[in-house]
Amino acid sequence: MPLLLGCIADDFTGATDLANNLVRAGMRVVQTIGVPTEPLQAQVDAVVVALKSRTLPPDEAVAQSLAALRWLQAQHVEQVYFKYCSTFDSWYRGDVRGNIGPVTEALMTALGCSLTIATPAFPDNQRTVFQGHLFVGDVLLSESGMKDHPLTPMNDANLVRVMQAQCQRPVGLVDYRVMAQGADAIRARLDQLRAQGVAVAVVDALSNDDLIRLGPALKGMPLITAGSGVAMGLPANWGLTPTPATSELPPAGGWQAVVSGSCSQATRGQVARFQARGGEAWSIDPLALIDEAAVDRCAKQALSWATPRLAQGPVLIYSTAEPTQVQAVQQQWGVQAAGERVEQTLARIAQGLVRAGVRQLVVAGGETSGACVQALQITQLHIGAQIDPGVPWCHAHSPLVNEALHLTLKSGNFGSEDFFHQAFVQLHLAPSRST
Ligand code: ADP
Repeated sequence: MPLLLGCIADDFTGATDLANNLVRAGMRVVQTIGVPTEPLQAQVDAVVVALKSRTLPPDEAVAQSLAALRWLQAQHVEQVYFKYCSTFDSWYRGDVRGNIGPVTEALMTALGCSLTIATPAFPDNQRTVFQGHLFVGDVLLSESGMKDHPLTPMNDANLVRVMQAQCQRPVGLVDYRVMAQGADAIRARLDQLRAQGVAVAVVDALSNDDLIRLGPALKGMPLITAGSGVAMGLPANWGLTPTPATSELPPAGGWQAVVSGSCSQATRGQVARFQARGGEAWSIDPLALIDEAAVDRCAKQALSWATPRLAQGPVLIYSTAEPTQVQAVQQQWGVQAAGERVEQTLARIAQGLVRAGVRQLVVAGGETSGACVQALQITQLHIGAQIDPGVPWCHAHSPLVNEALHLTLKSGNFGSEDFFHQAFVQLHLAPSRST
């Protein structure tokens, strides 16, 4: 079976979010960490190549994206999907504002694509586009928290203008009135824009219904650029519909553990809830991480605490802390070094847990997840059922132990309060397939 859809995502958790939406709409999906260097480990309909290009300068983001495209083309994918953030942010320095436009145009050229769309809309996640303007919840993007983002501030909500500033080719709009009329009207509007010389059409979307109506109008378009929302309308173009089989993973075995390096509000609640339920938990003291030997010592202590407890149920090892505690650590080591030392410690702990027989692992934190996946030498994740919005269980081979394990990577603010308990409950309730 050929691959139908090939996706290039500009960051790791964004890739998982897209993969999750595709699975929910009926596709079997593998997410790869970077451009694969070996064949896919599972038979799937779509692959999502996760890059780390969001915060790279345009020329580097273009080079990475084209490398991913070449790999996808070698797999003969029928359609390419470039996935960016639902707040449309990317590299930003002085007068160079964003790499979404340059990457889009490079992909268009490579694919011989005369017209593509652009929409970060994801109504389920409070991202809507109206008259080309991006709203985050009830406010314009330019009035949301993104206006003060330290790396990628967004102070213009007009996506036609934002995209035009990043593109050589003309940018146009498919507005909400057209979207409400359905796929034929959307197709006609796209044809009209193409005839006018427009190459990138920003698309309004106020609801999931808009995205479902958009799907058929994108059939056969060589390149789609979007957040993760557009994915929900695409699998139907290949006659695929949601079935439990799409998200089935092999049955889970082994011990259970949670490693948490996220200090986001939602994660702090999840750590507290896990302990309030009587869960066994060990906290890491980042102030003790004075050097490499201390990192090693700290990881060993956590592992000798955890190992005898694994047979009793899930254990939690965390560095999760309140903002004042995090600030104290950052003042001591500097923001970047503090982050890296904690990530290194938790990644080593994840390795130790898996070596000790953990085969169901929850990791909380985007950067923490990246560090743990790397430490486990995982390069491909087969995407399973959603636990909470944006967070699926995955199944991955870890060369570290030469075995597969179940893994979920939760970005900071995702997940219900009882996530660390529910994740395991749901893994065992979900239908599984034989290996
Ligand atoms: P999130 O998805 O919530 O943003 P991340 O894992 O991406 O979580 O980022 C959290 C960062 O904070 C990581 O670099 C992690 O190593 C660091 N960190 C975790 N705990 C602490 C702590 N107690 N003090 C300082 N930094 C910490």
